[in-house]
This record gives sequence, structure tokens and C-alpha cells, in this order.
Amino acid sequence: MQRRELIKLFSLIPYAGSAAIIPWSTANAAPANPPAEKRNVFKELGVRTFINAAGTYTAMTGSLMHDYVLDIIQSAATEFCMLDELQDKVGEKIATLVHAEAAVVTSGAFSGMTLGLAGILTGMDQKKVAQLPHLDGTGMRSEVIIQKAHEIVYNHALKNTGCKLIYVETAEEAEQAINERTALLHFLNIEADKGKINQEEWVALGRKHNIPTSIDIAADVPPVSNLWKFNDMGFSFVVISGGKAIRGPQSAGLLMGKKEIIAAARLHMPPRGFNIGRGFKVNKEEILGMYVALDKYIKEDHDKEWKAWETATAVIDNAAKSVSGVTTSITVPALGNVTPTLQIAWDAGKVKLSGKDLQEKLRSGIPSIEIGGVKDNSITVTVWMLKPGQEKIVAGRIKEELLKAVG
Ligand SMILES: *Cc1c(COP(=O)(O)O)cnc(C)c1O
Repeated sequence: MQRRELIKLFSLIPYAGSAAIIPWSTANAAPANPPAEKRNVFKELGVRTFINAAGTYTAMTGSLMHDYVLDIIQSAATEFCMLDELQDKVGEKIATLVHAEAAVVTSGAFSGMTLGLAGILTGMDQKKVAQLPHLDGTGMRSEVIIQKAHEIVYNHALKNTGCKLIYVETAEEAEQAINERTALLHFLNIEADKGKINQEEWVALGRKHNIPTSIDIAADVPPVSNLWKFNDMGFSFVVISGGKAIRGPQSAGLLMGKKEIIAAARLHMPPRGFNIGRGFKVNKEEILGMYVALDKYIKEDHDKEWKAWETATAVIDNAAKSVSGVTTSITVPALGNVTPTLQIAWDAGKVKLSGKDLQEKLRSGIPSIEIGGVKDNSITVTVWMLKPGQEKIVAGRIKEELLKAVG
């Protein structure tokens, strides 16, 4: 990039006049910049932004943090502190909030799974920490037992330690699979109803054979009580995403559980290297952002929030079903992403439009809107990631496109 272009670029930054930021700036000689217009980097880059009527998807950058959380992040960014001291103090507070012995802010639920298992494998043995993900000949355990129905892409987090996954269906199979190589019994809450063994039985199996148990509850608040339910139940460690319903930083999550597991897991985390987790970095901004988002989430009026979701869903529901040939239903998933979910379906003979067509029209409209659950003649909408008032825009656009397609 030419120096001239750099200057042009920097002149768009609100503080470009500060010689402290740009050492070679001639700002000292230049007149003070007029109050700069707020920079819109998305626009500059040509990156589409949209109204999110889909949900908390990583591909859509998750959730939006509350202003309150953003303020904390902004002020956190202006001071130095020791990373470990901050994790210690925040971890203590979070552990109390979620009824765990200990907790640590991780770079998401996925890294929490890797770190929790890594801690179990190595304990506080530095030599073993440096040996991961190579387990052969180290004396470390190497297998994780999981129910077949609980297979999901995120279980790869467990394989990152070098462990193998052993799949079972029944409690008898699980007991037969347990051996001296078994490091962990892992449970996936979002598929709890698909497996033959429930959470309590899983914990009991672990207790009986003296094997740690873990549970992935990444997308399982609401209800807020899930934050402590599985710690109370006795799982050795629990992981959850920070950037879904809790609306903490999207690059954060929580690993909570037994003191010795969390302490060992931290040997695999920055600021330390020589470990598999050096890349799972969270800094003070994510750590504090996660802490205050969690604290705020726990104290929120969840009934009030639920009613607001119902009200906003009804606005879109009423608009959609006013179109002839359109039928709607509102369901609440029993597990994971527990929020009112509106399905809008239509009679293909009356409304000449595929789900994909509607998705494309909403996406390319102004403002752009993303919806979920696209099928041949239906889509789904959730309102929990909408900003107040956006439900009217979504309702209007969906109705407009459905009406246009009525043959
Ligand atoms: C989202 C999700 C994850 C991954 O969580 P991150 O916080 O993005 O690392 C893991 N498991 C399940 C069930 C999820 O829904």
C-alpha cells in the first residue's frame, strides 16, 4: 500500500489527528480535524450487515452484546493487568454464580471441551502437558466414551487432545467399554432425548467407575437454571458458549467444574505455551465481557424477556398468516435454542415461491434479513436476536414477498 493511500485510510479513523497513534503523522502541523463522521467499516469493506431473524449462528457472528457489556470491554481495553490474576478473580466470581468449584473463561464451549479433557489427562504434570496430543507411551489415558446419538461436529474438540471416541448405546455397553484407558464420559445435552442414558445416569456411571463426566450445554440457556443444574448434578466439568443467549463475547465461553480439573486445564491455556491450547486465547476484554454478560444474564427478568419474544413473534406471525394459503405454527424446542420458533409454511399451489426463493429475496432486500429453517415451502423465524422494533420490518417484508408470490 502506498503511503498516500495509508494516509487516506487513516484519515477515516476518528482519532487520525493524534500524532501519538500515527508516528509519522503531520497532524501537529495540520488544523484539527472537523468532528469525523462515525466510521462504518462494514460499508467501507462492502460487507453486508443484516437483521438477524435466524438465531445464534456462528456463521452470522452469533449474538449482539449489550451496551453495558461493550462499556466494560471498552474500559478493560485501557488498562494492563496480569492475565492469570484476572482469570483467578473472575473465575472465583463465575464459579459462585454457577455453583461450581471453579471456572475459567475460555474461547468458547469447543475449546472448553478440549481444555477440560486435557486437564483430566495431564493433571498438573508439566511434562504430560507438553506431550499432548501424543498419548502413546506416555501413560496417559486415551479414550472418551460417548453415546452414539450424541455424535456432533463439536466432539472433535475431544479428539484434539489425542483421545479416541468410543461410541455406546446402552448403559451395559458403556460399562463394558470402560477400561483403564477411559479418561472421560462425555454427554451432549442438546441430544439428551435421543440417547438411552440420561444425565443423572451418566453421572452415576462415572461415579461408580471413578471416571470423570462432562457435559456440553453450549446452546442450553434459557432456561437460566441450566447454568448451575449440571454442576449441582455432579458433572466433573460443564461447558457453555458465551456468545449465544448469554450475549457475551462471541469468542468466549465457560469451562466450569472441579477445582483440580480447572487448575490443570489452565496449564493448557495462555499465557503458557508448550501446550495444545496456546491458540485458544482470551484476553481481558473477553474475560471481563464474559463475566459481566453472565452476571447480567443471571439477574435479568427472564419472564419479561420471554413475553417480549412472544409479543414480537406474534407480530410476524399475524402478518404472515394474513396471506391466503399461508399457515403458521409456534413451537419451543425442548432442548437447545429454547426460544419461540415461528414456522411459516405455505400451500405451493397458492404461493408460487420456494423457501430458498424467499430466503434470497429477504437477503437481497433493504434492509437485508436472514431467516432460518429453509425448506421447500416453509421457513422459520426467531426474534431473540432482533433489536427492538425490527420485528415490524421482518413482518412487513415477509408479508410483502408472500403476497407478491400469490398466484
Ligand atoms: C455452539 C455449540 C458448540 C460450540 O460452541 P462455541 O462456543 O462456538 O465454541 C458446541 N456444542 C454445541 C451443542 C453448540 O451448539
